[in-house]
Amino acid sequence: MGADNQESSKVNSGYCPICEKETYFYEKGNWLRDEYLCLYCHSIPRERALVHVLNQFENNWRNLIIHESSPGGASADYLKNNCKSYTDSHFFPNINLGEYYNGVRCENLESLTFDSESIDIFITQDVFEHVMNPIEAFKEIERVLKIGGVHIFTVPIYTKLDKTVQRARIVNNEVEHILEPDYHGNPIDKNGSLVTYEYGLDITKFFSNAISTTIYLEKNRQLGLDGEFLHVLICRKN
Ligand SMILES: [Zn+2]
Repeated sequence: MGADNQESSKVNSGYCPICEKETYFYEKGNWLRDEYLCLYCHSIPRERALVHVLNQFENNWRNLIIHESSPGGASADYLKNNCKSYTDSHFFPNINLGEYYNGVRCENLESLTFDSESIDIFITQDVFEHVMNPIEAFKEIERVLKIGGVHIFTVPIYTKLDKTVQRARIVNNEVEHILEPDYHGNPIDKNGSLVTYEYGLDITKFFSNAISTTIYLEKNRQLGLDGEFLHVLICRKN
């Protein structure tokens, strides 16, 4: 019976914000952040958290102009299919900014080619821990957002850290490692992405005074929301 209980605790029924229907969420492994999946769309918790936050804070998102930087996975497909004005981009080192490579627009968060005040919702998922100059990148996103627009994003927040830790920086056009290099998986680069920052709750120090920030955290297995690093940040341009 103990074994049965253990088995059943690996699966729960609930409502998937991405499938928009009743589903089952199951644990494929112990690292829930990547392994607590929706049976149907295979989304991971942060993707469901992001869509849940969109529904809570920007429930007209289907009719707004959304841009997502470095998308991948079930939530990006869902947003693309449900928002007429959804566009996305990746950064390709050898392509001119604003130009297209294999049909995908090339953008650098630290130097966007979009017009100022042209976007309602800017989305990044697990991107900012790889950005070399987050102050520049946040400033650029703020520039391209309309007044009242939002940057909604996920990034690992280490709540036990008193202060954000910088792991790498650029010196004379070269990467300088301040701490042992750490890489995360990258859908467009098999070498992975270097982690540049481990953010604490003081991440808000990177935002300008014109931004009001909500840090959202909900654990709710009925929505498939559980696991490590589940914060979603909502940064609104005033
Ligand atoms: Zn789903």
